[in-house]
Amino acid sequence: MVVLTTQKPTDKFVLTQNSETKQHNRNIAAMVQLCSVSKTYTNGCHALVNINLEVKKGEFLFLTGPSGSGKSTLLKLLYGDELPTQGDVIVNESNVTALRGDRLSFFRRRIGVVFQDYKLIPRRTVAENVSVVLKAQGYTRKEIQRRLEPSLKLVGLYSKADCFPEHLSGGEQQRVGIARAIVGTPPIILADEPTGNLDPENSWQVIQMFQKLNSFGVTVIVTTHDEQLVRRCNHPVAQIQDGRLSRKS
Ligand code: ADP
Repeated sequence: MVVLTTQKPTDKFVLTQNSETKQHNRNIAAMVQLCSVSKTYTNGCHALVNINLEVKKGEFLFLTGPSGSGKSTLLKLLYGDELPTQGDVIVNESNVTALRGDRLSFFRRRIGVVFQDYKLIPRRTVAENVSVVLKAQGYTRKEIQRRLEPSLKLVGLYSKADCFPEHLSGGEQQRVGIARAIVGTPPIILADEPTGNLDPENSWQVIQMFQKLNSFGVTVIVTTHDEQLVRRCNHPVAQIQDGRLSRKS
């Protein structure tokens, strides 16, 4: 079950100023907990206002809302790309706001992130794009190969391992992005408008891929403004409007 409140923290996660108590109240069944989180950018833009959100391990949540409502900012807080101005962000039992340097890097290895614009390296093959993170982490060639094969097979691109991104369709490029996100077997996937550049058929394929990962127990959070796509699935939906979160279904 996804728990959302806009006014006050849920009774499952009581806000206090005492860090020991915070630790005590951390809910181990939750993959994500945002508690009274606000984000104001340095230009004064209030991107998020008093967000309370809990996503349990193994859940699939759609985060919807118009452009500029704060969806990307919320995901960035979850993978530590931005810091909240106020409140606590707990992901996979780590207090993200307290992580710096190596600890933040290690934390990020356990988060799969998928972007709207794929963010592939143009002059690298599919296999190289997917394994780039593992290489940077010092995995052996054998271990990389062991992880690469199932990831590429899962997204249906094993036969295109040696192709370059420019020779792939948009849908295929996004599937490379998904393979890259899952190759480190993270317990959570965050996808920011992953279908934003795709036609309905490819969008549906991408969502089905996330559903498959979710059936393996991976927690999935997908931002989208595609209402049709959301209606086609039977997953909880949280809507964000002007930086405020409301329960939708
Ligand atoms: P969405 O993903 O729903 O389109 P964003 O999270 O990207 O929304 O943006 C929410 C608000 O924060 C917008 O008003 C946007 O202009 C602003 N914003 C986003 N990133 C920055 C930034 N780095 N600096 C200043 N304002 C930003």
